[in-house]
Amino acid sequence: MKPLPTTETVAVIGAGAMGSGIAQVAARAGHTVRLFDMNPEAIERGIASITRNLDFLVERGKLDAAEREATAARLVPTTRLEALADAGLIIEAIVEKLEVKQTLFAELERIAPQAILASNTSSLSITAIGSVLRAPERLAGLHFFNPADRMRLVEIVSGLATAPALAGQLFATAKAWGKDPVHTRSTPGFIVNRVARPFYAEGLKVLAEGAASPASLDAVMRDGAGFPMGPFELTDLIGHDVNYAVTASVFEANYGDDRFIPSLIQHELVLAGRLGRKRGQGFYAYG
Ligand code: NAD
Repeated sequence: MKPLPTTETVAVIGAGAMGSGIAQVAARAGHTVRLFDMNPEAIERGIASITRNLDFLVERGKLDAAEREATAARLVPTTRLEALADAGLIIEAIVEKLEVKQTLFAELERIAPQAILASNTSSLSITAIGSVLRAPERLAGLHFFNPADRMRLVEIVSGLATAPALAGQLFATAKAWGKDPVHTRSTPGFIVNRVARPFYAEGLKVLAEGAASPASLDAVMRDGAGFPMGPFELTDLIGHDVNYAVTASVFEANYGDDRFIPSLIQHELVLAGRLGRKRGQGFYAYG
């Protein structure tokens, strides 16, 4: 199966942590990228974050200055959804809420009837998102990991109606973008967010029982057990709103199985707006 040609425009919807990283990856791969968000300030923050990343790569000698300029020039911010009509591939990375994603995809199907539609959802059913489409075979999950410019894994998620050829083309495209894709079917949390859920849940239970502080538990799992990050620094990076929504969705999709019950501690962080690094405060404070 051939990847999406670089002559095709890619649109990314949602310029937050994930959308900005995905836009960077697609622009570096040679695509013109239209970056859309309903919040203009989020687009500014997203472009600033990409610019910082590209500058860092130049400083490190991993990107030459001309390629940095060319990549930056391929990024086109927009606040008009209709401007995405010429895209060959549209990747959604907005809030983790089924109804909001369904509304957006129904609108996208109208605006860009030829485009491949992809969702970066962490846990929601691709089958359910696609159920509002006239042509659900055009939709698949394209699940990047945080930070999207550095993490190589991408889950290619097929819903019940996803065309196998579409999943194959997205797999080839992810490879062409320097990623290590894997095929999976649309089950709650797919592979990584299903298997990793007990890592967060048990960490939060240990905290609730007063057995260890976030800093000591993170240090034990990172420096002792050899994980790249402990559960608290990792959920601070992911964002507690996102991580809590994913847990709630996996819990509900597993018919309320106790193993996936969301944590009250994490819910309190969400209610307090302590969403992690992106808000300067989560389990830790960021200056
Ligand atoms: P984020 O909060 O950093 O960014 C979301 C962006 O979407 C915001 O800028 C917001 O303004 C915008 N947005 C919200 N609703 C919108 C709408 N209807 N139309 C247009 N823009 C809208 O969130 P994120 O961490 O980038 O997560 C985005 C998606 O990626 C979610 O589905 C999440 O589950 C998934 N995801 C997150 C991670 C992670 O570690 N954070 C990892 C993999 C996948």
